[in-house]
Amino acid sequence: MSSEAAQYDVIVIGGGINGAAIAREAVLSGLSVLIIERDDLCCGTSAAATRLIHGGLRYLEHAELGLVYESLAEREQLLKTASHLVEPFPFYVPVFAESRRSKWKVKAGMLLYDLLSIGKSVPGHSMLNAAELSAALPSLRRENLRGGALYYDAQITFPERLVIELVQDAVDNGAQLMTHTAVTSIDVTDGRVSAVEYRGTANGRATAKVIINASGPWVDQVAGVHARHRLIGGTRGSHLVIAPFVGLPGGAVYSEAASDGRPFFVVPWNGMCLIGTTDERYQGDPADVTVTPAERDYLLAETHRLLPGAGDLSASVCYGYAGIRALPYQPSGAESAITRRHIIHAHRDAAGLYSIVGGKLTTHRALAVDVLKRLRRHFPQLPRKSPTLDRNTPGCLLPDERRELSAALTSRFDAQLADRLLRIYGANAARLLQLCDESREYSMVITPRSGLLVAELVYAKSAQWAQSLIDILQRRCMAGLSADAGLGCVDAAGQWLIRLGLSDRSSALEQISAYRDWVRRIRGVQTATVAESPLL
Ligand SMILES: Cc1cc2nc3c(=O)[nH]c(=O)nc-3n(C[C@H](O)[C@H](O)[C@H](O)COP(=O)(O)OP(=O)(O)OC[C@H]3O[C@@H](n4cnc5c(N)ncnc54)[C@H](O)[C@@H]3O)c2cc1C
Repeated sequence: MSSEAAQYDVIVIGGGINGAAIAREAVLSGLSVLIIERDDLCCGTSAAATRLIHGGLRYLEHAELGLVYESLAEREQLLKTASHLVEPFPFYVPVFAESRRSKWKVKAGMLLYDLLSIGKSVPGHSMLNAAELSAALPSLRRENLRGGALYYDAQITFPERLVIELVQDAVDNGAQLMTHTAVTSIDVTDGRVSAVEYRGTANGRATAKVIINASGPWVDQVAGVHARHRLIGGTRGSHLVIAPFVGLPGGAVYSEAASDGRPFFVVPWNGMCLIGTTDERYQGDPADVTVTPAERDYLLAETHRLLPGAGDLSASVCYGYAGIRALPYQPSGAESAITRRHIIHAHRDAAGLYSIVGGKLTTHRALAVDVLKRLRRHFPQLPRKSPTLDRNTPGCLLPDERRELSAALTSRFDAQLADRLLRIYGANAARLLQLCDESREYSMVITPRSGLLVAELVYAKSAQWAQSLIDILQRRCMAGLSADAGLGCVDAAGQWLIRLGLSDRSSALEQISAYRDWVRRIRGVQTATVAESPLL
């Protein structure tokens, strides 16, 4: 892209789930759109979630019925339109004698939740006695167990892939994208936004009628002088990823932490187990957020209290991750009581500048629809009906298409690899097959344990905007989220980038070292130094 000031209807700052959804909604509504992302797509809060697509059972207690209803409707949308990424998932809610919510209160919540999920495709709830719950969750504490509930929500194993697909849809329909490029200032002329300046892979200025600041926890920093008051009051939420253990639940366990009553999840995820989360006010740079030792102790202690049958899991921690909830600024009061509803803030002194506060992975599309409604005053020609309602993401497969692609994949690869490609890429796995037809090298696996195809590296670099090994492993092929945090394949991936001419030797070495450093600092994994291998 040239450094001359290009002109757009809308510039979206931030390539997390919300920026991606808004850009897609806007471009499909006929607007010209530029997305600018400081780092990589889905590298912020969107990659730090509990990875649930849910109505938010606990929001019922805060009387946020509208939010629950909207979230449940969006859950249904995603189960249909991104069915390769979003799957129905069972949740168990145990009730103990000392629980804050009695069994009847849980039952009442379940009835309301079912009622608000009109037209849902997942099963309704059922109440379980203590024996039934213990049978379903063998490692669950039995002492004082009074029974509980089983209900269904949904899980998205890799929101990273959903963000990539939303952007893919936007770009396929005309949006422009710049990653590894930060917006450094927003220009205002005569009280109206006029342009943004950006620096990074590309340097320059782009003009637009409307600028959407969807930079999540960075919203205040990006809005700069145009915000009259602080918009975001970030809270840190942390998770630990645990290796599979004896008595790993067959569904998510949703409980309250015994020490402080906060919501607490133990979720089977990606062949392992995710435990979280915490909720503490945070002041630092969102890019540096990590799980603190105190949070690690808290999460392990609460898991032990809830699932004593699992034993001591402290030696089973694979890695951790943390993110900042971009919640509305509220200097005091309980963190858990701050609304999870999104707010579209119109800046008074800069007409045409909107900042997004809050929101959830689940409701990204509803947020985008709301944003486009607000933009009608700038673009009266916008369609009344959302173009994304019932619109499949590019990777979504209809059952027949899925069978056909699955057959093509299994005729070429072993069943485990074929299944992984379908789960990660959906319909985009067809493109990997085409690449494998172009070169025999592309169908090689880079390490047996990762099962990662050379074609995946080529695809990530050539068609999915990945620039570095962190982008490729953490947010494209998802090998970085496996138990070894991608350390087992990063050297081989770097070697292949050199061999394929996708990276020069010194840059590949730098990327390997940056990957190891990032995993150590941000994921809390101790890593060995990069060994110079013969090929390098
Ligand atoms: C612990 C935790 C658990 C959660 N669990 C769930 C869950 O299970 N289900 C659910 O529905 N929701 C969940 N959420 C909420 C959800 O993750 C967030 O609401 C959502 O991801 C926010 O997305 P976003 O696009 O607004 O922000 P982000 O994903 O943070 O994206 C903002 C982007 O802006 C970019 N940016 C910053 N500054 C600039 C700049 N100057 N120029 C260009 N780009 C810039 C950043 O690099 C970043 O990529 C959870 C959140 C947390 C923290």
